[in-house]
Amino acid sequence: MATLELDSVRKTFQDDSGEIVAVDDVSTAIDDGEFLVVVGPSGCGKSTMLRMVAGLESITSGTVSLNNRVINDVKSQDRDIAMVFQSYALYPHMSVRGNMSFGLEESTDLPDDQIAEMVSETAELLGISNLLERRPTDLSGGQQQRVALGRAIVRDPEVFLMDEPLSNLDAKLRAQMRTELQRLQEDLGVTTVYVTHDQTEAMTMGDRIAILNDGRLQQVATPLECYHEPANQFVAGFLGEPSMNFFDVRFERGVLVGDAFEYPLGPEVREALDGTTDLVLGIRPEDIELAETASNDHDFATTVDVVEPMGDENTVHLKFDEGVETMIATADGFTRISAGDDVVARIPAESIHVFDRETGEALR
Ligand code: ATP
Repeated sequence: MATLELDSVRKTFQDDSGEIVAVDDVSTAIDDGEFLVVVGPSGCGKSTMLRMVAGLESITSGTVSLNNRVINDVKSQDRDIAMVFQSYALYPHMSVRGNMSFGLEESTDLPDDQIAEMVSETAELLGISNLLERRPTDLSGGQQQRVALGRAIVRDPEVFLMDEPLSNLDAKLRAQMRTELQRLQEDLGVTTVYVTHDQTEAMTMGDRIAILNDGRLQQVATPLECYHEPANQFVAGFLGEPSMNFFDVRFERGVLVGDAFEYPLGPEVREALDGTTDLVLGIRPEDIELAETASNDHDFATTVDVVEPMGDENTVHLKFDEGVETMIATADGFTRISAGDDVVARIPAESIHVFDRETGEALR
């Protein structure tokens, strides 16, 4: 059993220009056996957060607890936490076997034959039994990654921490390892915190994802909740490719008034806005339907600007007829459409997102 809890965790660094707040008042709890993916843009504080949990970075304020025990002052090697790095951090002069057994030899009194057996079992689990006598330098990136994982798994830790472990692999291997890692974590049932800037990894691997921006937690929820019910404009724009379309609008006379269009709202949405007038309307590209003729007041006349064929689908750049606003829609790859075509963009009322323009908070 391992639960991990961060309570008002903060980390500041000093440099010549002053104080840098890398992690700002982060509170969250990771359940026993849970796979939590921490995701966010470069420099948002992901690695720093993980390193504080690992004990590789001091905590400026707040607490990190493992199984309800505060571990702020527990040394890294005594935390029963194993970390896997992007760089793999393998010992080049040791064999794979040596890399995997070293930690156990150093930190436990287990007899050599038991350690050897644990290494063999883990190697088998990862399909690297045939590599045990090789040096890391003689291995491919994918094989090195497995060894780095093996070194963490063999210790049978309470918690795995992984910092962008797949980012040095090519796209195909990355996709394969993504599935393997997920299966492995599920089989082993070890509480895992996994850091990445890759939204595909976040969406596909995590039981829940924690989205970080500027050192602050934006939302912690299942991937689908974050995608469909983003807490704020940052989360809405971060998840999804192509990104959500955003329009600055004002709420007037029961409609959202933009530069190029007016979008009528039903009573339920009007109520949710709670009197806020300066808003941002958010529309996911896949929620826009392309039609030939307008049939209701959620249909808008547009012109196709650019079509990017992606194979299974087309990314379609649309211009509203006034020409001042553009948006991106995704359409089926078989849709026959080309630049200059006039199309109707249908934006169903149930699919729209509305954010407070000042705070970014999702109102609906
Ligand atoms: P990336 O995805 O690029 O690795 P990240 O989200 O992991 O980024 P961190 O490496 O945690 O971000 O960095 C968060 C902030 O803290 C950044 O502004 C970074 O420059 C700063 N920072 C990190 N480590 C130090 C340090 N040792 N000294 C000073 N500033 C630091």
